Amino acid sequence: MNDSPEALWQACLDIIRDNVSVQSFRTWFEPLKAVSFQSDGELHKLTVKLPSRFYYEWLEEHYFALLQKTLTKVLGPGGRLYYDIVIERLDEGDASMLLPPRTQAYAPSPRHTEQGPDEPRTGLAFGEPIESGDVDCRLNASYTFENFIEGDCNRLARSAALAIAENPGSTAFNPFLIYGGVGLGKTHLVHAIGNRIRAGIGDRAILYTSSDRFTNEFLSALQHNRAREFSQFYRGIDVLMIDDVQFFGRKEKTQEEFFHIFNDLHQIGKQIVLSADRPPRDIDGIEDRLLSRFQWGLTADLQAPGLETRMAILNRKASDDGIEFPPEVIEFIAHNVKSNIRELEGALIRLLAHATLHDEEIHLAMAKGILKDLIKESRVSLSIDQIQAIVCEYFNLDQDLVRAKTRKREVVQARQLAMYFSKELTHHSLKTIGLQFGGRDHSTVIHANRTVNDHLETDPKYRDMVQSLRQQLDLRSR
Ligand code: ADP
Ligand code: MG
Repeated sequence: MNDSPEALWQACLDIIRDNVSVQSFRTWFEPLKAVSFQSDGELHKLTVKLPSRFYYEWLEEHYFALLQKTLTKVLGPGGRLYYDIVIERLDEGDASMLLPPRTQAYAPSPRHTEQGPDEPRTGLAFGEPIESGDVDCRLNASYTFENFIEGDCNRLARSAALAIAENPGSTAFNPFLIYGGVGLGKTHLVHAIGNRIRAGIGDRAILYTSSDRFTNEFLSALQHNRAREFSQFYRGIDVLMIDDVQFFGRKEKTQEEFFHIFNDLHQIGKQIVLSADRPPRDIDGIEDRLLSRFQWGLTADLQAPGLETRMAILNRKASDDGIEFPPEVIEFIAHNVKSNIRELEGALIRLLAHATLHDEEIHLAMAKGILKDLIKESRVSLSIDQIQAIVCEYFNLDQDLVRAKTRKREVVQARQLAMYFSKELTHHSLKTIGLQFGGRDHSTVIHANRTVNDHLETDPKYRDMVQSLRQQLDLRSR
């Protein structure tokens, strides 16, 4: 076998190519270059160069299993992929950062050392008797309170989560159930609680799991006559966090087991944190007695974030990754991607991948092109009413004023500009435009248009103002 890093990586690529779409292959795998290969008999480290940290996160999040399998196939069981991240476009010159596969980045609790950090994490975790601190808590270290942006949409859930993290088991919020639609931050918040408890009090047995995993482990325990061990394992947990409990629906046996674990833990003051994608009463096939337990503590919901929160999240994500996105690009995304936070992130990542790949600066036109399909509604044109609203917002005026009789200078200016843009950006006739401005005549619209054009020709300051106003309109017209 040819042991050069290039040849080994090529062998990996051949496998990967068959397992992902052409598009994904080109975006995420082709740009990676093998840099080194080291083997000490047991561990075989192949290191590849990545163009940015995003690649690392993306690969580990989306292709972890595939990469692991591929590396095992090509290099044997000790095969590991290491990442060398080279950030080339920093002003200070190149920077490089070497990262191991993420399984190691999420270090297990300190006393969990006998197994070695490279042990796969998939097996049943309840095999051995536990002491506090001995559980592999399965926390994702990158979901913290520090990087969870607060907004009206999540204020209650976040502050309750914080209170619990400071005093697990001793607040009235037990159980704590967070519900909300997909991509709104439930999983993030649950991990944040775990991470904070872990950083603070330390030696508590914290366990994050999903209802699916809980179910599978339980069923497998039944099958292997290990139900007692399973139940003992869970009774030793101090902070039990179960994500997506809607999947307990209709799983009667699992629910029953969970019900008893819940009661035992709750009775001795252990903290329970749950999440669901809808209010508990709307989950199909959950037993009443379990539902009533859910209501013992606090139920808090996560709503879709408003515009300002979306901007804050985007800015935060961009700056966390050390990337500069022009403000108009952030605004464009925030205005257009509304449904959930995962999509916001997805938009940033796609732009970044494109920019890195083509070595281009990120700019508004690029964003519009790349994100076209993400922004589901096709390009909508603004209505006269919307144009009035945007122009008035720009000048900080009440929208009614442009339709009123007033001849105050700043109102006249806003009215003229709104007419000017209505003529340019809508298909309405001059007559219709005039009518929507408080029943004015079409000649008024012509006059407004002429005035604006005159100013544009002679007044550079005015031109700047119209330019930035145009950008506002453009952002919202998709
Ligand atoms: P859910 O579990 O509700 O489907 P996640 O917790 O997985 O959603 O969140 C989706 C993505 O959005 C994650 O990457 C998460 O970090 C991010 N996210 C969600 N809410 C926030 C927030 N308030 N601030 C920053 N990032 C957030
Ligand atoms: Mg989730």
